[in-house]
Amino acid sequence: MKFGAHVSISGHIHLAIDRAVAIGCECLQIFVGNPRQWRHIEYAAADVALFREKRARAGLDPVVAHSAYLINLASPDDAFYARSVALLIASVDGISRLGGLGVITHIGSRMGLSREEAAARVAAALRVVLDHTEGAMVILENSAGAGGAIGGTFEELAAILDALEWHPRLGVCLDTAHLFAAGFDIRTPEGVARVLRGFDRTVGLRHLRAFHLNDSKAPLGSHLDRHENIGAGQIGLRGFRALIHHRVTRGLPGLIETPGFDRKGADRRNLEVLKRLRRLGPLRARSYTRRTPKHN
Ligand SMILES: [Zn+2]
Ligand SMILES: [Zn+2]
Repeated sequence: MKFGAHVSISGHIHLAIDRAVAIGCECLQIFVGNPRQWRHIEYAAADVALFREKRARAGLDPVVAHSAYLINLASPDDAFYARSVALLIASVDGISRLGGLGVITHIGSRMGLSREEAAARVAAALRVVLDHTEGAMVILENSAGAGGAIGGTFEELAAILDALEWHPRLGVCLDTAHLFAAGFDIRTPEGVARVLRGFDRTVGLRHLRAFHLNDSKAPLGSHLDRHENIGAGQIGLRGFRALIHHRVTRGLPGLIETPGFDRKGADRRNLEVLKRLRRLGPLRARSYTRRTPKHN
């Protein structure tokens, strides 16, 4: 697995590359605009060129965007829904210009709609986004499953991908803190293997494009979205070591969105913890009692 972080784009978009390099990123996640505003930022051509040049020099791969938190692809409010679709389209266009892989997005919240109504709205929204963009992907992030948050189960993610006929530019990002809060126990190698098998059966591993690597301050099944530094939360180092060495995560980006050991956001120390787990290699398999060979 490759490790990276969500880093700030403040000042100029290309400064994100410098920040990523400074903390030891191998891949990178950014916002393509202000995550708390509808307004979409247009980049100067020179900024885009410099971003691409610095990124190539730093060898960061892939680069992904995270969509604005405001987006709700299931919103029952038609105006809000339309703005969500428009902003997601602008975000896909933005990351395409920067040469990135895609936009990771939260799906949204049902806000009183039935599961069926919400699913139909999400599918229609994604259809419009995919029809009006090209190049970069739309990567749906699993949720902690609180209240009406969509995407807390693999079945819900699969139903959305299925409604879009498993579109080649549609993928999934699994956030470890959200998984854990949603009730998926990834604290042990056995747990990690079970969860990834379940994902493969329900969604399919070929649709898995990225991980958000966050430990969880909130307990298993609590449905609370509380990120913690790697190894300092309820998932723990053993769970992360198992995940990053599982064969199906090989080569995928693992991006931290951790609070930072000095609480100033994604930091070198969290990435160092992950790199150390990578160097250590997989956890040793449980020892088996060897059967005495039978001769006769
Ligand atoms: Zn996340
Ligand atoms: Zn989260």
